[in-house]
Amino acid sequence: MLVNEIITILKSFPKKHVFTLFLGFFLLGAMSLLGSKDLKEKETELELIKPLILNTLSEEIKIEDPLIEREKVIKRNDTLYTILDDFKVKKEDIISLVNSKNSNLLAKIEVGDKIRVIIDKSGELKNLTYIDDIRTGVKAVRKTGGFSIANYESKIEKVKIFKHVVIEDSMYMSGLKQDIPDSVLMDLAYINGWDIDFTHDIRPGDTYSLIYEEILIDGEKVIDGDILISEFMNQNEQYIAVRHDLNKQTSEYFNLEGENVKKAFLRSPVKLSYISSKYNLKRRHPVLHTIRAHKGVDYAANKGSPVRATGDGTISFAQYNGGCGNEIKIKHSEDYETRYCHLDRFNSRAKVGRKVKQGQTIGYVGSTGLATGPHLHYEFHVNGRHTDPLKVKFPNASPIQTSQLKSYKEKSENLINELKNFQSLINGIEVYGG
Ligand SMILES: [Zn+2]
Repeated sequence: MLVNEIITILKSFPKKHVFTLFLGFFLLGAMSLLGSKDLKEKETELELIKPLILNTLSEEIKIEDPLIEREKVIKRNDTLYTILDDFKVKKEDIISLVNSKNSNLLAKIEVGDKIRVIIDKSGELKNLTYIDDIRTGVKAVRKTGGFSIANYESKIEKVKIFKHVVIEDSMYMSGLKQDIPDSVLMDLAYINGWDIDFTHDIRPGDTYSLIYEEILIDGEKVIDGDILISEFMNQNEQYIAVRHDLNKQTSEYFNLEGENVKKAFLRSPVKLSYISSKYNLKRRHPVLHTIRAHKGVDYAANKGSPVRATGDGTISFAQYNGGCGNEIKIKHSEDYETRYCHLDRFNSRAKVGRKVKQGQTIGYVGSTGLATGPHLHYEFHVNGRHTDPLKVKFPNASPIQTSQLKSYKEKSENLINELKNFQSLINGIEVYGG
């Protein structure tokens, strides 16, 4: 009885685990023997017991082989036959499948779709699933004298999840403690990252609430969906972001006024860096040792770190330029220009006249020109005048189109009401600081 039970358990384990279990049984057996005997005796007994245990169990396993699952994404030149043959499905089962009623549903296989089979050790095909997309496909199940083949469609549901988090340490860690999925927290950081610096601006007691979607297929959660609305309270400043579909493929986040939460410029042109020198009109120059205004911000980073275009624009300058070393200038609009100095080298795509996108690498940190060590000297010009890039208020990316504004306002109002309702439900039980 017990052995049968163990076999049933073993069948649901992958092979590697089964082996580990064997080893475990063996060691358990061995250990119980080790208890009272001296070393010499132990060795003899171990020799005797070892093959015995392994043989008994592996024989039992042979009675009912565990089933094997195989899956493949269809590539060019694949046919149903070659795939099933690669899977080591018995030839007679392939023929039987092709001769079954409705087998025409499997006649056309498309690159990028998936085929999954369940077979036993002898290659007997138990069932086959042709996966079209997450929702639809064809299923073939073994029955006496062939296979029953039919289309299937999974039931897709979207569920709204509400979370409210009081930050104790970091936005991310506090969110994980509330079981918010990693991908949702990443999205939240991206959406709010234009306004909030998550390293320096967060204070314990800051809060955030959000409603996000979870997508269920046949009642089981499979995908963490998108954030529909988030409210971030950072040092008593409120930031609201509402998701809005611009078209079928793209969605962006907007505040309640319909302004894009995304800014036209990134805060920092080098990801892994620290500010080594700020904008200062009365600075003593480290190389020249004279008072010389520092009309930009220096980002210290490793030589070779990628330098990103902080906004969309056109490269207007890319060459060596005296104390600035290798320099790139980007013209973003009539009003805005950014400059990047001391580059070790330019990115091969960074040529005068080329268009660049926000975040695209234009060059690499170096120390060309007048520089004591590898860093990026970054300047921000508004209407031809030097401006402190850390203090300037960046313009927002494109707002909601006027034609969509009315429907957006209705939608965002509904969502904010929903969020407030959820918040009022938990208000009574909230304890600050966890
Ligand atoms: Zn500088």
